[in-house]
Amino acid sequence: MRLFTFTGEHRKFLREERPECDCGKSIFITGECERIEGEQGIPGFFDEGVIVGKCISCNRNRTFAFID
Ligand SMILES: [Zn+2]
Repeated sequence: MRLFTFTGEHRKFLREERPECDCGKSIFITGECERIEGEQGIPGFFDEGVIVGKCISCNRNRTFAFID
């Protein structure tokens, strides 16, 4: 399953990555954690976060990307 996609024609494709665990498997349960900030009491603006995956075979966690 794809984690990221392009949202505009002005963005250029750089590369495709297919992460693989040290155990050799390439199926992960993924999650994203974002930092929520509030402005004038209204939460919702995110500034930075991280996308992680847990291997379904050996349960190792790994970081896929830091977003900002
Ligand atoms: Zn693994």
